[in-house]
Amino acid sequence: MKQIPPALIDSHFHLLAMQKKGVDIAEILKEMQSLNMQGIDIGIDGDDLAQRSALLASHPFIRLSAGIGPWGVASDQKPVLQQLDILASSLLQHDVCAIGEIGLDNHWGYGTKRSQQELCLLQMDLAEQMNLPVIIHTREADEEMASLLESRSFPRRGIMHCFQGSKELALLAVSKGMFISFAGPITYKANRQMREICKAIPLDHILLETDSPYLSPEPKRGRTNTPLHMVHIYEAVSSLLELDMDRLVLQMEANFSAFLN
Ligand SMILES: [Zn+2]
Repeated sequence: MKQIPPALIDSHFHLLAMQKKGVDIAEILKEMQSLNMQGIDIGIDGDDLAQRSALLASHPFIRLSAGIGPWGVASDQKPVLQQLDILASSLLQHDVCAIGEIGLDNHWGYGTKRSQQELCLLQMDLAEQMNLPVIIHTREADEEMASLLESRSFPRRGIMHCFQGSKELALLAVSKGMFISFAGPITYKANRQMREICKAIPLDHILLETDSPYLSPEPKRGRTNTPLHMVHIYEAVSSLLELDMDRLVLQMEANFSAFLN
């Protein structure tokens, strides 16, 4: 049997959001397939799973997650319990590899801190009931996220996605079994601290992502991001960690399968 060579993995992107920005999704998926790429299309709302699942029906190399981000508690949204109902019933109909993204965001300050924490915790419970890992968004909420992580265990682990927090939070998350995922900002010149954090994370707890369509890495900064820009993030991390590209590719593949299993 011919062995498929290891290839790049984008652990976090949003196909529907790319499409809204005018990206030809079919073309991106075709290119990803020809490069043997794998990855996860990430949910952001309780009701986006059916549409994403249909979009990816013939692309089994892309996994799906589903969850309601902290924006779910914003005042212009449906009541949270109603959103959770919709999420729970769509999870019965479609195959997902994780619950997320879920989390806390003080930058945009959706709803109240308390309501964000409740929504996040309810979905951590849901993940545990379904024996699934979590994918966590945390922005300018280090303290609240630290106490949330400390308050429980994560038997199926999880990912701190597009990590932009402190070293303390990163190491706490690692001690809870989490992967720390770095995105385009690690390539930005000003983010020296983020690169220091990356170096402090055990290699078997690192994942990489584009968070497309947002946060294009250098040298694509300022343009709409797609998973095809993943190579620039691998290159930046390969030189940061002084790790051959081949070894980094193999390590990310091992980490990604540890996350899925
Ligand atoms: Zn995201």
